Parts: sequence; structure tokens; C-alpha cells
Amino acid sequence: MKIMKNALLLLAGGKGKRYGGGLPKQYRQINNQNFIEYFLSNVSLSQFSIVVIVSDLNLLKKDIKKIKILLNNTKLEIVKPGKNRQSSSFNGLKKLKNYEPKNVLIHDAARPLCSNNLIKKIIKTLSKYDTAIPYVEFNDRKINSSNKEYNENIKFIQTPQGFRYNLIYRAHLKNKDKNFKDDSSLITEDNKKIKFIKGEKSNLKITYKEDIVFFKQFKQTIFRSGIGFDIHKIDYNTKKGLKLCGVNIPHPKLIGHSDADVGYHSICDSIFGALSMKDIGYYFPNNEKKWENANSKKFIIYAKQKLTEKNFFIVNLDINFICEKPNINKYSSKMINEISKLLDIPKKIISIKATTNEKLGFIGDGEGIAAETIVQISNEKLY
Ligand code: ZN
Repeated sequence: MKIMKNALLLLAGGKGKRYGGGLPKQYRQINNQNFIEYFLSNVSLSQFSIVVIVSDLNLLKKDIKKIKILLNNTKLEIVKPGKNRQSSSFNGLKKLKNYEPKNVLIHDAARPLCSNNLIKKIIKTLSKYDTAIPYVEFNDRKINSSNKEYNENIKFIQTPQGFRYNLIYRAHLKNKDKNFKDDSSLITEDNKKIKFIKGEKSNLKITYKEDIVFFKQFKQTIFRSGIGFDIHKIDYNTKKGLKLCGVNIPHPKLIGHSDADVGYHSICDSIFGALSMKDIGYYFPNNEKKWENANSKKFIIYAKQKLTEKNFFIVNLDINFICEKPNINKYSSKMINEISKLLDIPKKIISIKATTNEKLGFIGDGEGIAAETIVQISNEKLY
């Protein structure tokens, strides 16, 4: 078997009693993403050869497809939780045994805000030390239970905690029937020295319902934009059949393999661009019989599906037609209706504009119709 280097063990088996009843917090969707997905989407997962999630499979089932997309080439294993945190962690470590990882990072799903920088720091520390345990300190005045000044430095221990795999596995084996609060305490139990590293104050543990405010405050809002351009030739042998952004217009049609809806094609390409995908011709080749006379609605539906899979929302969609005829303004509100329905976005974030080519070139001669689109997308639903 191939020797694998770093493994990520994500503990998501907690019941979240302190958070309040119902679905445990790590599975609740905020902007279409639960804590597990948010964390995984912010971490460069190529640093790991395997990710093990300890979770009740029923609770995770509907999110697995999205998680696999985030993982890309990194292998995923799901393991059942144990009766407490320690046994859940041990279950995950046992699963990892077959993969022979050199290091393992053990993380609580209740800390979705952990940054990729912290992960990188832990992995780097593990190249020199057997452990890497992040902590934070607070400057607030400290008192003990009898209101006396308490001047000792207190460390607040975080996760992910990094270990040499064999070291933490043996520590778990030895302390099997105990119930330690985290994995680093099993190491200190063995009187072994731990390598502490600076953690992140923003890497908060979401424990109580009110903590969700911190999650919303600290989570990163990502913006991306994409551009799309398309042009088709007008078929003057026809009198009607033009379709722009799904709206039928009494005007000679455009020539194309599909229905030649330049508006929809430029929207698709802008979305693909924003998602760092390839162009429309790659996904719907114009030499495939399947797409002959195809309704371009299908391409938009595909683009929308990709947005959902990658957890992005459209923030703004700006479409510009370049043609001498027809008069686009006459149809723009109908087009906005169609786009709004198809992409499930509010009309107020869609704009349809048009310009002529001032009688210049082949567009100016009325030979074709072009459309260009700029889209902005975000991981947050801003409407
Ligand atoms: Zn086209």
C-alpha cells in the first residue's frame, strides 16, 4: 500500500446538547452550507491524502455529494461516532490504520472558522515535532472561584491538533476506556511534552446558539466574477424563429447548432468563467447530435446546477446585446422574467442592456447578433 502522509480526521459526531435540541449544529445549513462544508471549502485539501469524517451517516447523507466535490482527489471515509468524543476519535484513527498516514490532524467540526494558514502551520510544525497543538491566550483579568487574582497564564486549547499518527494511536489504545476532553490530553497523560503553537482567536468553538453570530461575523465572504461573449449569424431565409434569453421574437432566426440563443449562451459562459470552468462548447459540443436544435434553457439549468454544487449565488447579472435589430428594450422585461425564473434569482439583480454597432462592421450591416454578460457570484446569498 502507498505510504500516505497527512490525514485529516474531522469529528462531527457531537449531539450539540448545549446548542439546543434538534439537528446538531454542524449539520445546519447557513447559506446552503453546513459547518463541515464551510470548513472543507476553506482548506486546501490537497494537503491531505485522506479525510475521515466521524459522523452519523443519516445526518450526513444529503451533503455527501457536495463534500466529495470539495474533496476532489482526496479520499473520503465516513466512520460511525462512538459513545463520547474520545471513542469517536479512536474510531477514526482505527479506520486510518490501513492508510498508514505519517501525521494526523484531528479537528472538531464545531470549529468551522479554522483557517488554512493554521492548518499549514500545524503541518509545518509536524515536520520537526511529534505534536502541534494550537492555543490562544486572553488578556482579561483572571480571578479564581474565591474572587482572588489568578496570575498564571492560561492557555485555551484549540483544534485541529496535529500528531504523529503512531503516537496518538498508541495513546488512544492505552487509554481506551477513559473519557478525555481532547486528544492532546491523552499525550500529557503519558507525561509526554507537547509542542504548543499559536492558534487563532477567530477559530471559535460554536457551542451555544448565540455563538452562531460569531460564525456569521467571521466567515469569509468570497466574490468572483465571470465574462461571457457569444455571436451568431442571422438567417435571412427565415422570417421568424429568433429566441433571445428564452423569449420568442418575430424576427429572422439565428444560425446555430442549438437554438442559437446568444443571450443564454453568454450567460452560461459568464457563470462557467466565474466558477473557473471551461467554455460552453466544452460541455455542449456543437458536433454532438444530442445538442442539435437544443433548447438553450438546458445549458442554463446545467450552469445553475454547478453554482449550487460549488455553493455560489449570483449577486449581479449584466447582459448586453449588440445588434442593429430587433429593438431589445421592447423584450427586456420578458427576458428578465425568464432569467429570473430559470436561475431562481430576483429580477432586481438582472440587467438587460443593448447597443447598436453604429452601422459599423458585420453587426452594423445587420448580419448577426452578439451578446456579452458579466456575472458576479458570492458564497453568500446577498438578496
Ligand atoms: Zn452560441
